[in-house]
Amino acid sequence: MARRIPEPFRIKMVETIRQTTAEDRRQALQQAGWNPFLLKAEDVYIDLLTDSGTGAMSDRQWAGLMMGDEAYAGSRNFHHLADTVREVFGYAHTIPTHQGRGAEQILFPELVKRCRGQRPVFLSNYHFDTTKAHVELADARAVNALTPQALDTGTAYDWKGDFDLPRLREIVAAEGDNVAAVIITITCNSAGGQPVSMGNIRAVSELARAHGIPVVIDAARFAENAWFIRQRDPAYAGASIASIVREMFDCGDMFTMSAKKDGLVNIGGLCCFKDDEALFRAVQVNCVPMEGFVTYGGLAGRDMEALAIGLKEGLDDAFLSYRIGQVAYLGERLREGGVPIQTPTGGHAVFVDARLLLPHIPAEQFPAHALACELYLEGGVRAVEIGSLLLGRNPQTGKQEPSPFELMRLTIPRRVYTNDHMDYIADCLIEVKKRAGAVRGLTFEYEPPILRHFMARLRPV
Ligand SMILES: *Cc1c(COP(=O)(O)O)cnc(C)c1O
Repeated sequence: MARRIPEPFRIKMVETIRQTTAEDRRQALQQAGWNPFLLKAEDVYIDLLTDSGTGAMSDRQWAGLMMGDEAYAGSRNFHHLADTVREVFGYAHTIPTHQGRGAEQILFPELVKRCRGQRPVFLSNYHFDTTKAHVELADARAVNALTPQALDTGTAYDWKGDFDLPRLREIVAAEGDNVAAVIITITCNSAGGQPVSMGNIRAVSELARAHGIPVVIDAARFAENAWFIRQRDPAYAGASIASIVREMFDCGDMFTMSAKKDGLVNIGGLCCFKDDEALFRAVQVNCVPMEGFVTYGGLAGRDMEALAIGLKEGLDDAFLSYRIGQVAYLGERLREGGVPIQTPTGGHAVFVDARLLLPHIPAEQFPAHALACELYLEGGVRAVEIGSLLLGRNPQTGKQEPSPFELMRLTIPRRVYTNDHMDYIADCLIEVKKRAGAVRGLTFEYEPPILRHFMARLRPV
């Protein structure tokens, strides 16, 4: 049994959560069309839908809110934020945005304009879904080159977020001038919050530089990635998180960040440049009509203050060890209970392999979504499907795309739930496992044409 790392904080304010009865939950899920996205949050006891913007701010961040300078231009909090970015990442130029996708929408069109080839393409270990969407909105293609080790959920591997370097080299050679940028996603969300090794980051960066390709870091979980590097790479055993972060970002030219993750805020994002002033200016021009004036980018002054504080709190050793330890503890409890999971666990979530747990449910009846519904019915815990339902149909052929995974993600919000909540979640899922054979697949009653997983209505077959 993994050792429990106690919370490195004490609780100063509480929010009541309400447990419901099994009958309440059956009614709520039926009304929600067997889609946990459509539940009222109040009908959920423990909400593991996402770690995005769901964390708890510290007393220092809440105090920072009171220091908001709501000037339209040149707010004191903007300067605090830009100074913090310089200190933590070593990047000279900062544009705040309303969240990660705001940074993507103002940056990618400029990278496409600068691309010399006729058919621009972005290469990534794995494009996050909004990242892929903004690449495509900018009339470019999104191609992933993820290590094949990531697909084998049962076998532990330290760096399941790595690029497949031979494959990346092949694509770069074949695409030539078409490559608009390489996007290094740390940690690799879609592979299970899995880290990218420093060696891989460096090799990708060197390859890109040799070909004059800009390197973008998709930095949502930068601190968790740094923690994994220190934990798993003996060369960094004695290094500080801050120094590892600097070394990772030295390998990039710019970053986009959803600050709703390791930035420890409920809303916010960043688009920052190491030294490319011309590109920074061009992206600032896009910021004004899309996000807001360049010193607020869709955020209130107080939000920028909370983020400036959160960026540094997120580097704290004790916090990161507890945070990632809590995820590992939940994973360990599930593995002991015979629930198949992506191994090892990642930084922000435990991914349950529904293909192995519910082998009788075919992909087109969404086994991981069926499992999420069952977990809600069991104990009011809300999880999310990462599989065929999320992937959707091929827009040309209308056929279901074959998904490499059928995973249910248990995403842990930062500083919100205690280790007792982890035990409760594990107990519920182990109960569900006992009746796994009786869990039924789901079929559509209503299937939206795009991003169907959010609004779909289903029923058991
Ligand atoms: C969340 C996330 C984004 C998008 O950020 P939003 O703040 O949700 O707009 C982009 N990339 C990664 C890796 C993410 O996890």
